[in-house]
Amino acid sequence: MPYYIGETIEERENLFVQTPETFGKRFNLEVRNFSEVTSIDREARQVMVKNIRTGERYTEGYDKLVFSPGAESVKPPLPGINQEGIFTLRSVPDTDKIKSYIEENKPRHVVVVDAGFIGLEMAENPHDLGLECD
Ligand SMILES: Cc1cc2nc3c(=O)[nH]c(=O)nc-3n(C[C@H](O)[C@H](O)[C@H](O)COP(=O)(O)OP(=O)(O)OC[C@H]3O[C@@H](n4cnc5c(N)ncnc54)[C@H](O)[C@@H]3O)c2cc1C
Repeated sequence: MPYYIGETIEERENLFVQTPETFGKRFNLEVRNFSEVTSIDREARQVMVKNIRTGERYTEGYDKLVFSPGAESVKPPLPGINQEGIFTLRSVPDTDKIKSYIEENKPRHVVVVDAGFIGLEMAENPHDLGLECD
């Protein structure tokens, strides 16, 4: 994602290394994306699923339930944290927001708060776009 922002990766399509079809075929899984589990009935061993595109709801039974809903970026409760021009990067939609902000607003100076691997990648890529980065 940082390298798409920095234009080393030119095509957004190349951020997706699998499709539901290839992933399902490779691991013999039925992949149901755009499906949100809205509740769990542990007694009945069922989950309630909502198709977020069609609004359809249904229950699905399970023997074992593996729960892996991911995480959200931490936004410390600092004054101004929700102002325009402050971003977190965790997903492709986050990437789209950063990329279009750079294209539309043409900032000259970027500050990256985080010195982990992704922070370092995010510090490297603005340089490739000719932006000053701290
Ligand atoms: C910018 C960036 C670059 C990275 N680069 C690499 C890399 O090069 N190599 C690497 O190994 N790792 C990389 N990582 C780390 C890797 O992406 C994460 O560690 C990994 O995606 C975490 O997997 P996860 O399954 O825990 O969570 P996620 O990938 O966040 O998946 C959780 C999923 O659960 C879904 N979900 C949540 N609630 C529900 C619900 N109620 N019903 C249905 N679905 C639900 C979410 O929509 C999401 O799709 C990178 C991460 C970032 C942010």
